[in-house]
Amino acid sequence: MDIERLWKNAQEELKIVLAPAVFQTFVSKTQLIILKDSTATIACPNSYLADINQKRYYHLFKSALDNQTKTNNSISFIVQDLIKTETQNFSAPLLNFSPKSTYSPNLHPRYTLENFIVGNSNNFAFAAAQGIIKNPGSTYNPFFIWGGVGVGKTHLMQAIGHELLKNNSALKIKYFPAETFGNDLISALKSKNMNLFKDRYRQLDCILVDDIQFIAGKEYIQQEFFHTFNALHMSGRQVILTSDRKPSDIQNLEDRLVSRFMGGLTVDIQPPDYEMRCAIITQKAEIYGLKLQPPAVTFLAENIQSNIRDIEGNIQQIAIKAQSGRVGEIDLAFVQNYLNPLSSSGQNHFSSTNLTPRHIISLCAKHFDFKTSELCGKSRKKELVFARHLTAYLLLTEINLPLEEVGRLLGGRDHTSIMHARDKIHSDLAVNSSLRQLIDQIKRSF
Ligand code: ADP
Ligand code: MG
Repeated sequence: MDIERLWKNAQEELKIVLAPAVFQTFVSKTQLIILKDSTATIACPNSYLADINQKRYYHLFKSALDNQTKTNNSISFIVQDLIKTETQNFSAPLLNFSPKSTYSPNLHPRYTLENFIVGNSNNFAFAAAQGIIKNPGSTYNPFFIWGGVGVGKTHLMQAIGHELLKNNSALKIKYFPAETFGNDLISALKSKNMNLFKDRYRQLDCILVDDIQFIAGKEYIQQEFFHTFNALHMSGRQVILTSDRKPSDIQNLEDRLVSRFMGGLTVDIQPPDYEMRCAIITQKAEIYGLKLQPPAVTFLAENIQSNIRDIEGNIQQIAIKAQSGRVGEIDLAFVQNYLNPLSSSGQNHFSSTNLTPRHIISLCAKHFDFKTSELCGKSRKKELVFARHLTAYLLLTEINLPLEEVGRLLGGRDHTSIMHARDKIHSDLAVNSSLRQLIDQIKRSF
C-alpha cells in the first residue's frame, strides 16, 4: 500500500474515534510524510498542532497507524505547512482550536485615542503615537514610553493598538504586561512547550509590552525577551514598551536590552500640569455624570496633583457620594469636605489618595520636629536627610506621587536622588523592624 492510501485509511479510522470538530482541527490538516523502519513522521501545519497531537492524541495516531501497518510504530510530529487543499471535503469545524482563534488583542475598550486628553505633559508622546499609527514598524520602532504611576502610559499604548486595528483589522496586535510574558515563559518551560511559546509571540505584527521594568534582574526572561524582540523588530514589526523609568535607569537590565530599547524613540509622560488637571477633571466628571461648579474644579486641580488615575478615582468617589446624598451640583464646600481627611465629620475616605502631598510633608516634619522649610530645604544634616528620605518614601508609596514631583516638593531634588532615597528605605526595611514601626506610627497620624 502506498503511503497516501495508508494515511487516508488511518485518517478514516481517526475520524471514527474522534469528535468531528476535533478531527477537523487536529487531524485533517496533518499528513504522514515518511514511514520507514516503523518510524512515522507526521507533518503538522504549525507547532501548536504538532504539540497538541504529540501530547493529547499520540496514542490514537499510533493505534490507527499500527492497525494499518500491522506493526508497532513510533511517531514524531514535525511542523511543515504542506496541506492546503486536502481538508476541504471534510465537514466544517464546530470548534476551532487554532492559535488564531485563541488570539485576542487584549485591549481595554475605554483606552482609546478619543478618550486621551492631550496637554503639556504628554503632547510629545501623543504626537509620536500618531506617527506610529500612520506608519507602524518604521521610524519609531521600538517606541518606549516611560513615566510615573497613573500618567497614561498604558492608556496611550493601547490607544495606538486600537487605531492600528481600525486601520487594518487583520493585524495581529497583542497587549500584555511584561509579567505575563514572564509567567508564560515559565509555564512553557515547565510543560516543555517552548515552540508553542515562541510561535505565539513571534507571529504577532505588533506587541504592546507594559511595565517592561518587571524583567529587570530576571536573567532568563530577559534573554527570551531579547530574542522575541529581535525576531519581531528585524522583520519590521512594531514594538511598543512602557516602563516607570527610562531604559538607562532600569537597574539590572542587560546592556543589550537597554540599547535595543533606546534604538527607536523614547518619550516620557510627565504628571499633568494644572491646566491639564482641570481638563481631565472636567472630562472625567462628565463621564461619571457629575456636575462640578468651576471653583470645585479648580480646588480639585490644585489639590490632586499626583496623577490621572488618582484624579479619576477621586471623581468616581465624589460621584458616588453625590449620588447617595442626592446632591445636584457640586460646589467648593462639598469637595473641600471630601478631600480633607481630617474633616469634622471624621469620615475615613475611600483611599489614602485623599491625602495631599502637603499634608504628608507637614506631618513628617512635625513627627521629626523640623520645620517644613527645613525638611524641604538644602541642609544635608544627618537627621534631616533621614527624615527627608522617609518623607520621600511615604509620598511615593502612600499617594503614588511621581519621582519628579517628590523631588520638586522636597527642595528641587533630582528624580534619581529620590529613587535612591526610596531604594535605601526599602532595603533598610528588610533588615530593620523598628523602621517599619516608625513608618506605621507616622502613617497612623495621617
Ligand atoms: P499608567 O499606565 O501610566 O500607570 P494608565 O494608562 O493606567 O496609567 O492611566 C491611569 C488612568 O488614567 C486610566 O483610567 C486612564 O484612562 C486615565 N488617563 C491617563 N492618561 C489620560 C489622558 N491623557 N486622558 C484621559 N484619561 C487618562
Ligand atoms: Mg500602566
